[in-house]
Formats: sequence, structure tokens, C-alpha cells
Amino acid sequence: MPAPTDSIRVSVQRSPQSIRLVSPEDVIQVWIDGVDCINEVRNDFAAWYFLPIAMRTGRDLRIEGEGSEETIRNARRISEIWETWLPHHFTAVNVSFDTVSPRRAADGHRRRSLCCYSGGIDSTHALLTRHRAGQTQSLLTLHGMDYRLEDKEKFEAFKDKIAPFSRLVGDGHIFLSTDAHASYRTRRVNKWGHFSHIFVLAGSGFLFSEEYGEILIAADYRLDQQFIAHPWGSNGATNIYFDDGYTRLTTLEGNLSRTEKMATLLTSSEALQSVSFCSNYRWRPSNCGRCQKCMRTKVMFFVATGSVPEIFAERSIPPNWFRHFDLTKRYQAAFLLDIISCAKRTGRLAQLPNADVVYAMVKRGPDKAGGKQERRGLGAKLLRFLRRKTGRSAKASRRAPSRVGGNT
Ligand SMILES: [Zn+2]
Repeated sequence: MPAPTDSIRVSVQRSPQSIRLVSPEDVIQVWIDGVDCINEVRNDFAAWYFLPIAMRTGRDLRIEGEGSEETIRNARRISEIWETWLPHHFTAVNVSFDTVSPRRAADGHRRRSLCCYSGGIDSTHALLTRHRAGQTQSLLTLHGMDYRLEDKEKFEAFKDKIAPFSRLVGDGHIFLSTDAHASYRTRRVNKWGHFSHIFVLAGSGFLFSEEYGEILIAADYRLDQQFIAHPWGSNGATNIYFDDGYTRLTTLEGNLSRTEKMATLLTSSEALQSVSFCSNYRWRPSNCGRCQKCMRTKVMFFVATGSVPEIFAERSIPPNWFRHFDLTKRYQAAFLLDIISCAKRTGRLAQLPNADVVYAMVKRGPDKAGGKQERRGLGAKLLRFLRRKTGRSAKASRRAPSRVGGNT
């Protein structure tokens, strides 16, 4: 079937507290609560929101109103890169606007920064570090990503939890809700990985590009780890092209892995009390201490600092802490390898239950481990491997303390 050649026409409908981006087949809505600094003229943000839909359908974008030459050029670049990475999934497309923005001289607003803040380890660390360096920024938090759009109660609880840290590091806090992910889901944008989050964040940040010259986002992975987690939506190769010539997306702390952030977090009670990352939805905004994200974060705290802070409902590290890791998911492999590297560096490998066996499994490589199938569900495989190797169950291992507490 030949690729469709007709453009997707996107109209931009503004009302006082919301924006609707409407094409004949998709609608992306954005609600902003109590903020009056949404762009009045520039519609570059619509390109970032709609680009994944265009890349999936192979159709060019025509956006109502005004956008810059740089956005036109950079959106093309981003889509070309994604097509080279996943040619079966994405197609390079062109973006155009009804009106190309006239060149503007640099003005004062360009010095203001708006930092994406999810409440997770990476953005919390980046904000704390900037705050301590005397840098100021407003914060931008999205509802409709980690928290279901209809779940206002939980999101309000999350807002309460992060309020003290927000007051500490931010000179303002914008809360924005969007249903963009519903359209991405329909278009199966994330069929082969986590790609769409950066487009939502960039689209949301650039809604305020007339006010802010810099949209900040903390890197999810250190640069070398990005080669493991690839392809991943937010990355050093494409993030630099979210740039409309006046406002740009800047990625923070691409030089740090997550374990390298733990010690700093321990030094701020505001940061510790606000941080929220649990993947068990029922527990949010608290951290259950049992799910895969909580478990890996606990282990990261332990190998990096020797302790687990009192931010988890369950603080101990059980012998089968690795149970939920899946090495076929490369972003998870990056975290496990980070844990092992950190534990070796800090000399805590022997204190981490069964870490020697996990390390041996990692060292075996995909061929000896039996290929992809063998590496799926790492936890179960590791437990079997452990039994074969030691003739004992993981729980009975005497190589390490059976449990590691917060005061270890
Ligand atoms: Zn959890």
C-alpha cells in the first residue's frame, strides 16, 4: 500500500485554561490550571505533540498559526532519526505552519528556565543540584503520565507530597493535564519501547516558550547507559533538536547514572520526603518497597550509600531482590548493570544478597544464557541458576545476610 501523501492538518484552539489540538482523526487536549503565561502566538509546541502521530502515519504535518523555521527543520531531523532507528515503525515527515515566525531579537525571557519535574529520582536530583548551585527555575509537572487523568484524588495527594520540595527549588510550579497518551496509544506509538514521553514533555514545555527560554529535563540515563537502553524517547541524540530557535530543550545530568545520585538525595529531607516512583499504582504517591521500581531504587540506595532511607513502606532487601528484573528489557538491564557496577565500586557487592550470582549471570552473556528466551524473566532464571550452582535455594544462601536493613 503506498504511503499516504496528504498532510495532517492540525488546528490550535485556545481557551483561557485549555488548548485543543484537533486534526480530522486525533484530538490532543491540554488543561492548565491557574496559569496565564501560555503562548499567545507561537504554536511550535503543536509540532512536538503531534510529531509521533505524523511519524506513525507517514503523513506530513500542517499546523495552524505560527511556528519557526528552526522547528520545521528540527522536527524533520527528529523524525529522520527515529526512522533510521525504527524504519518499520516510524517515517520521516515534514512539518509546516500557516505562518513562519519572523526572526526575533533575543530578549530577557530567554534567561528563564522551566524544569520538568515528575517527582522521581532524576528530576529531584537535578533540581536539588541546581538549587544548591544558586540557579532558579519554575517547575512543570504533568498529570496524565504517571497518574491517570481521571484520578484527581491521587494526583492531589502527589501534589501535597511534593509541595515542600517544590517551594524549596522552584520559583513557581505549573501543573498541566493532557490526554495526549490516548492518541499515542491508538497509534501504537510505544509498541516497540518507551518513546512518546519526550514528545509530551516537549510539547507541554513549549506551550510556555514565549515566557521561558529554556525547558529543562533530567536525563533518564547516563550517556553510556543510553546505548544500552536505546531506543528510548528521551535521549542525547534527539533531545537537542527540540529547539525552535528561541527556546530549547536542555537535558540535565547526562553524565550521571542513577546510583550516582543517591548520596546527594540523602542530604536533603525535602527531597527524600517528596520523592515518588512506585510502579504499584495503589501505593502512589507513597513507595511500596516491593515493586520492581521500588526494589531497584532501594538496592541503588544501599549499594551507593550503605543504607536505605525511610521512604519505603518495606525497607529490607530480600534475597530475591532481582526477581522482577527482565534483561530482555534493555532499560532494565541498564539499571541492573548500574547496580552491579556501583556495588563493585563501593565494595558492597558481598553485602548485597546473592549479588555474586547475579553478577555471574550477567557475565554469561546472551549465548551461554540460552538467548533471549532464557533472559526473559531474569528473576526466575536466576533462581534456577542459583540452585544449579549452589545446590541451595536463594533463601538459604549463606553468602550474604538474608536481609539488608536500612541501618546496614
Ligand atoms: Zn513500589
